[in-house]
Amino acid sequence: MYSDGKVLNDNLITTPQKMIMCPSCGHVFWIENPVEPLITYDKPDAEVYSWNTWRFFGISFSDNKGKLALINHYKTFLKKSHYDPRKEIYLRRFLWWAYNDLHRNHQHVRLRYWLNGFMSFGVWHCNRKLILEGEKLFIKSYKDFTANLTRLMALLEKHPEEQIDLELPEIHRELRQFDKVKELLEKTGSRTHFTNELLRHSKWKDARVFMVSG
Ligand SMILES: [Zn+2]
Repeated sequence: MYSDGKVLNDNLITTPQKMIMCPSCGHVFWIENPVEPLITYDKPDAEVYSWNTWRFFGISFSDNKGKLALINHYKTFLKKSHYDPRKEIYLRRFLWWAYNDLHRNHQHVRLRYWLNGFMSFGVWHCNRKLILEGEKLFIKSYKDFTANLTRLMALLEKHPEEQIDLELPEIHRELRQFDKVKELLEKTGSRTHFTNELLRHSKWKDARVFMVSG
């Protein structure tokens, strides 16, 4: 789990995808009550589009071009239509996560991570290049990133029932409003590993998304 609320399981996001774009005609539709897809090895009766052609609009998370394409999808959706607050929150949250994907796991660029022996030098070095390039792209889109996050925060303040646990303090931290993080966390009172980490990163004036557990 990451500080922005994105949870990955085997590198796959666990939050259900509610907005799907048809790989054939490009029509966009919402699934209000997503259910776990049925996994079967039976050959389908008709031609079907495979999961990865429509999942996250067919983009690839393994390179920065795919990550930028995902950002552009969400930005286009938001520009094209007017959504009710719940849908806008959903889209802006996914757009936030998509921006953070550009430099998620930034701690992996450290030499220490390679020395820990999780991966070969070649894989580490390649991954490092990808994240550093992603960081540059993140900085380039910083104005759009903050505009989206500011709007998301306003929506969540109006609709507290849509908030994920500790989402508001994290948004303040990523917007570099570090004093506000402290203030909000003092109000909630309870101390967990996550709240301690939020305070620690705020004290360092570190606004980057980080891994909480996993
Ligand atoms: Zn279609």
